[in-house]
Amino acid sequence: MSEPTTRQLQPMPDDWQRALAVVAHPDDLEYGCAAAIASWTDAGREVCYVLATRGEAGIDTLEPAKCAPLREREQRASAAVVGVSEVDFLGHADGVIEYGPALRRDIAAAVRRHRPELVITLNHRDTWGGTYWNTPDHVAVGRATLDAAGDAGNRWIFPELVERGLEPWNGVRWVAVAGSDSPTHAVDATAGLERAVRSLLEHRTHIEALTGEDPEAYARGLLTGFAEETGKRFGNRPAVAFEVFSR
Ligand SMILES: [Zn+2]
Repeated sequence: MSEPTTRQLQPMPDDWQRALAVVAHPDDLEYGCAAAIASWTDAGREVCYVLATRGEAGIDTLEPAKCAPLREREQRASAAVVGVSEVDFLGHADGVIEYGPALRRDIAAAVRRHRPELVITLNHRDTWGGTYWNTPDHVAVGRATLDAAGDAGNRWIFPELVERGLEPWNGVRWVAVAGSDSPTHAVDATAGLERAVRSLLEHRTHIEALTGEDPEAYARGLLTGFAEETGKRFGNRPAVAFEVFSR
């Protein structure tokens, strides 16, 4: 990275009314983003979630057929905590999501259905900060979301969507990537942080299976730590960072 990490982040654009968050798995939005989402829904904005999978491959001790409905339920509860009532699941296969036209089409369809000005997704690059290898699902969905924000506006790319009554939507102005190691913007997390903790705690089964720690201490410690770290570049307020691409 060439830029000094002390460089201050800009406030996120706020002249919008509808956002759509598109990620691979249940809990992807709860590891950091949910505090920003709470502050947006507090302000009367509409936010919907789209998940490429139902997270059925996420728990070693639970077979996929039992895991999927449980994680779907946890995700809906988690969304409700931060004021999000609409959660769609695209039904791609957890762990082996393929980047390609089928994924772009499904996300473009969601963009046309929800007609957002702001689209949110998760880190689409190969690594987390150059240290941890990212999963192929996150890379595929992040990239396809960046692409589908444009596909949604072109009636000839997926003509079958128009036949289904989904007219082109050219209104996406920004795609904001959470978990990027090159963030440009941030949202104050002060008001949303406690709800973000509760939102993550709705994924209790998954947290218990993964960590063996006390879920509440784990969720609070992790999210507070992320928000304070980001806040060093945002006037020392707890914050959630995004890399914002304009369209
Ligand atoms: Zn994930």
